[in-house]
Amino acid sequence: MVKLIVVGAGPGGLACAIAAAGAGADVLLLEKAGRIGGALPYSGGHLSAAGFSAQREKGIEDDVAAHWADIRRISRGTGREDLTLLSLAEQPAVLEWLLDAGYAIDPATPRIVHGHEQYGTPRTVHAPEPPGGPEILRVLELLLEPHVKSGKVDVRCGVKVAELLVETVGGEQAVVGVAAEDGRVFRAPSVVLATGGFGYNPELFAELDGAPLTTSAAPTSTGDGIEMGRRIGAGVQGRGKYIPTFGGLPPQGDDLRVDWRHRPHLVAPERPPWEIYVDRNGRRWVAEDDPSIDLKERMLTAVDRMTFWMVFDARALRESRPMVHGWTPEELDARCGARRGLHKAATLAELAAKAGISSDGLVGTVARYNAAVAAGRDDDFAREHLPAPIVEAPFYAIENHPVTLITFAGLDVDAELRVRRGDGTVIPGLYAVGEVIGSAAVNGNSFCSGMCLTPAMAFGRIVGRALSGA
Ligand SMILES: Cc1cc2nc3c(=O)[nH]c(=O)nc-3n(C[C@H](O)[C@H](O)[C@H](O)COP(=O)(O)OP(=O)(O)OC[C@H]3O[C@@H](n4cnc5c(N)ncnc54)[C@H](O)[C@@H]3O)c2cc1C
Repeated sequence: MVKLIVVGAGPGGLACAIAAAGAGADVLLLEKAGRIGGALPYSGGHLSAAGFSAQREKGIEDDVAAHWADIRRISRGTGREDLTLLSLAEQPAVLEWLLDAGYAIDPATPRIVHGHEQYGTPRTVHAPEPPGGPEILRVLELLLEPHVKSGKVDVRCGVKVAELLVETVGGEQAVVGVAAEDGRVFRAPSVVLATGGFGYNPELFAELDGAPLTTSAAPTSTGDGIEMGRRIGAGVQGRGKYIPTFGGLPPQGDDLRVDWRHRPHLVAPERPPWEIYVDRNGRRWVAEDDPSIDLKERMLTAVDRMTFWMVFDARALRESRPMVHGWTPEELDARCGARRGLHKAATLAELAAKAGISSDGLVGTVARYNAAVAAGRDDDFAREHLPAPIVEAPFYAIENHPVTLITFAGLDVDAELRVRRGDGTVIPGLYAVGEVIGSAAVNGNSFCSGMCLTPAMAFGRIVGRALSGA
């Protein structure tokens, strides 16, 4: 008899199904897409944990208390302590599980990643070739395979779950199964929602995260689990904790998604900026060389439409690399005027007109910045890296939008990952793991390296084991 139904075959759902089957349960895994993997094919695939073998091999001393202290510092204590500690305790085991199964990590990892606010200890791992998500999927497929062969996990792709079935059990309203969009009904004593976030659902995004949506989320991230849960009275946690990822090119044509691989390189400790960042009025708004990406993400929320332009000259394009990941200076230059958001002009005034920013504002700002470079001191923002004035034509402007990779709000759960109603009571039979519980659960109002994928798998394993009775 099927003991649990897992809805969604991303990292959270796969880890849950594998753990439950490994502990003896029969699992039905329903996936709306034509393939398993969820957001993994798109994902950067950075994982983190404290006190695992790859750290020990490099002589890195670390423990859960240190990881927790870093997360509290970065998130300013805005995540959920109970869930974060639950996940952190399981994360080293997640890493060992993947490594034992052949997960190939970049020999330069574990390392400190600068694309998010930095941990104090090297504890992030990823595959040698970006993006790292596909390598995690490869290993999860290997771990799933024997359970599919033995019949313990029945994987059905192309089944979109539309509703949760609720009946009275022992005098209480409980979830007893799911109904698919095509009318089929599947029953089990427990249902685990692992349907991911809602970064590809503009309406739900506007309602729950309340910000402009420029997205790089997977097209399957439409918030189905959150909508289904809310329809039977589930509460929502993590509202008001949205923070944008710092910058990406605007989308092209009718595509909702932006190209995350070819994103401007805005991580100051890795590429000290030669450019300035200006808003629609042509004004600077931050010290571009500040090493804290978290600070910039927060400042960006106050910028008009959270949109800004990197402005630089021909010399900067030659000397500061890469301005955009994956493009040579020549490739970037050739795309100006041909791709939305990339502009080139002989004068700053002409550049401003092409980019749609204030001409007077930009010309004045560049003059003031060039004076700061000459003086060796930036009185406006205390920027220290002042390598050269912006003087050599042609001039360039790259338009940057806040990019959504993950969503922060999600279904409210207790410390056993049981979904709770708006009044805080548990909905019997219903569990949730992964991004469907909202990334704010463990990240709070911030990004902590590896703290989406690793917790998704950690929570999946915890619930899978618990529901199998192991
Ligand atoms: C570009 C990018 C880079 C990222 N980089 C990182 C990183 O480096 N590190 C990190 O920790 N996180 C990263 N993330 C976030 C991370 O990938 C996600 O948070 C993670 O994949 C969430 O896992 P999940 O299992 O909860 O959901 P998902 O991976 O989204 O999987 C959910 C699955 O549920 C299925 N589903 C949805 N609705 C239904 C339904 N109604 N019926 C049946 N099936 C359904 C979907 O089709 C999907 O397969 C990144 C995300 C993106 C987009």
